[in-house]
Amino acid sequence: MNIPLVDLHSQYSSIQEEVDQAIHEVLRAGSFILGPQVQKFEEEFSAFCGTRFCISCANGTDALELVLRGLGIGQGDEVVTVSHTFFATAEAICRVGAVPVFVDIRDDTLLIDPDRVEKCVSTRTRAILPVHLYGQPAELESLLAIAQKYTVHLIEDCAQAHGALYQGKRVGSWGKAGTFSFYPGKNLGAYGDAGCITTNDADLAGWLKKARNHGRTEKYTHDFVSQNSRLDSIQAAVLSVKLRHLEEWNAARRNAAELYRGILGSTSEIRFQMTTPDTLPVYHLFVVRLNDRDKVMDRLRSEGIEVGVHYPTPLHRQPAFANLPSSQRELPVTEQAAGQVLSLPIFPELSTENIRKISRVLQEALFIR
Ligand SMILES: *Cc1c(COP(=O)(O)O)cnc(C)c1O
Repeated sequence: MNIPLVDLHSQYSSIQEEVDQAIHEVLRAGSFILGPQVQKFEEEFSAFCGTRFCISCANGTDALELVLRGLGIGQGDEVVTVSHTFFATAEAICRVGAVPVFVDIRDDTLLIDPDRVEKCVSTRTRAILPVHLYGQPAELESLLAIAQKYTVHLIEDCAQAHGALYQGKRVGSWGKAGTFSFYPGKNLGAYGDAGCITTNDADLAGWLKKARNHGRTEKYTHDFVSQNSRLDSIQAAVLSVKLRHLEEWNAARRNAAELYRGILGSTSEIRFQMTTPDTLPVYHLFVVRLNDRDKVMDRLRSEGIEVGVHYPTPLHRQPAFANLPSSQRELPVTEQAAGQVLSLPIFPELSTENIRKISRVLQEALFIR
């Protein structure tokens, strides 16, 4: 039997009654865009994250773009971020007219390296944008201290880390704002595109509520030219149902990760993303690092085990960023990681038996010449 990388079908089966009922309520009420379910979910998610506000929008990329625009970041500005992430992180920076300044990651955590961030801050820097990659919080205390020292904003890309904790406090509540994606495969996923921004800043929240909806204050009054990036009520209803299960699902992901680590930990050819006592990760992905990654990947796939690479080409090597200054092309840790990372199946319903099987096939593959 094949083992998928993520399994949205078995998750739906486990909550089918709740989800179907919630969707039918929306269909019966007939308010499909920014309806009461949207406001309800925003209240629930801000309470969950421990922030004063949650402003939903159409997807996680828009969430990033809206926050950057809301903070007045644009032409001539720089935002310090990582190259080892999904394309959208840097794309949003470019969309507002600013320039991404890529900083290298730490070799052990694969996350933004605070020691290197400070060297990348210039007079043009307006924000530091760490990514809590694979569900593991970046070093928020150090990053916040740097942001405060240089009076720049800290914006957290939380698209892979719904519910993760840093020093007991949720990601998305540390910086000026946190951005989330509810893409179906994320830890908290809708049944379509969706996203949101969390913040404690009332002015920013007020601006974002208008900005996501044509700069609109009342039905036919528009304060400024903006965009359409609204959440629909069906997605919000699904998200409210799923939010009730998120803690339990994240705990199941952590159990799966512990099991993998327990079995694979004795194999010296395998490295893991290091976790620190400061963090409670949520394992959006379970990533191992292997020198012989491609060989092992082929072997796992041929055994019916679906694996992934997140991400094979760092952003500074993407054709879209071909005109970056050459000083931005020296990211040795990022480049090495891109050649080594392999994402193994992980999702709350993944069985112990399958984790053992995946681990066995992986270990065998390492020793096949
Ligand atoms: C998924 C993701 C995004 C973008 O979210 P969408 O909802 O797909 O637009 C941004 N950043 C990271 C790190 C992501 O994983």
